[in-house]
Amino acid sequence: MDVQSEDTIVAIATALGASGVGIVRLSGPRAVSIVEGMFRPSAGGPLARARSHHLRHGWIEDEGRPVDEVLAVVMRRPRSYTGEDVVEVHCHGGTMVLRTVLELACRRGARLARPGEFTQRAFLNGRIDLTRAEAVGDLVASRSALALQASVNQLRGRLYEEIRELAEQVRQAAALVAAGIDFPDEDVVFTHREDLRARLEAVRGRLEVLLQGAGRGRLMREGLPVAIVGRPNVGKSTLLNPLLREERAIVTEIPGTTRDTVEEAVEMGGLMLRLVDTAGIRRTADPVEQQGIGRARAALERAELALLVLDGSAPLTGDDRLLLDEVPAAASLVVINKADRLGGGRPGWEAELEGRERLLLSAVTGDGLPEMERWIEHWALDGERPVAEEALITNLRQEQAATGAREALDTALAALADGLGEELLAIDLERVLSALGDIVGETTPDDLLGRIFAEFCIGK
Ligand code: GDP
Repeated sequence: MDVQSEDTIVAIATALGASGVGIVRLSGPRAVSIVEGMFRPSAGGPLARARSHHLRHGWIEDEGRPVDEVLAVVMRRPRSYTGEDVVEVHCHGGTMVLRTVLELACRRGARLARPGEFTQRAFLNGRIDLTRAEAVGDLVASRSALALQASVNQLRGRLYEEIRELAEQVRQAAALVAAGIDFPDEDVVFTHREDLRARLEAVRGRLEVLLQGAGRGRLMREGLPVAIVGRPNVGKSTLLNPLLREERAIVTEIPGTTRDTVEEAVEMGGLMLRLVDTAGIRRTADPVEQQGIGRARAALERAELALLVLDGSAPLTGDDRLLLDEVPAAASLVVINKADRLGGGRPGWEAELEGRERLLLSAVTGDGLPEMERWIEHWALDGERPVAEEALITNLRQEQAATGAREALDTALAALADGLGEELLAIDLERVLSALGDIVGETTPDDLLGRIFAEFCIGK
């Protein structure tokens, strides 16, 4: 596939703000000639004759007036990110400088790129499939080591290769089906159908493994929503604040699962924890703002895991017991806080927690915090640390397409078991192939593609 675009796009590819270097990137048939018209090389011939992928030193000029001292690099098609002619101008990283270079390029006929348009062109030109295009977006947005690992694997084509292999198996099965239409002999038809069934079962097995890993893939990419609940004064904010203050803690706005909620995210054990309703916790220092069961309930609804904090140095209260009733044992860890006040002992009421996962720690001294981290990571990943080279489904779109492929495959297997005709089987296998094609973007409708790329930021 080689769909050369007619227009040449331009964008500032680096974050805006004072920095050492900022890059303006162009892609399209006129990328070289547009930059040629504004670049004065300090040595050597014109840019049009520059070696591909080699930096050239020179000045960007606006009608003879110097704008910035830069390095320019031409990357000729098809060996470029987009598969088209690409030119990058490495400027000094000031906002004014970059805007001026951008404007110059536009004046010379380039068009401002839409968000994700460079990656979209790479996809349309067959440089990358949809899973790898999505991986580019994820890589840039990664906020934890595991998110990075998942997107790097996907960018390296792990998922793409797995899907391609599965599709190849299905194609071979479809060829067998097509051949079977011409086999009148009963015996031959029988062995042939057995062979077919074994092949399709094998594909189904691998698809099942992929789908089983999907939860983990999404968890790595999106993080784990965690609620910290407990009655006032048990030490929730004390537990939380060192997490949020630490160097590795990234306080950020993440569009939550529910609209308009702002969550704070911390990296823990390589995993991103999205802390639900921390605003409520922080306000509990204010005695007027008491945290009630209602608030905890709302947080629990949005979280996948709850940390139920109890004060180990005090008797259990009615509120504690209410929360213990409210918070499901399978999706929670009871954190018995203030261990430093227990003189090495354990609270007398611990027997009441029979059957619940629990840990003793001190938010003040930090004792027990590493154990809590390990517990959370183990719980979230089912004790399986992702393998470095694993093909993983990392988003809902891929998961839905893979589910569709599995359903079509089940229909085909049922048709086979019922001894239905080859013609029907052939149709089912076509559906499997189409759903597999959706995962990598081969059969994905244009409007969906448009929406996927629109989520990228400009310059990517
Ligand atoms: P919250 O209302 O649940 O957020 O509780 P806070 O974090 O505001 O803590 C209430 C009180 O308990 C504060 O005075 C904290 O200093 C104290 N506290 C919290 N964690 C510990 C701990 O591990 N050990 C001790 N000794 N005191 C703690």
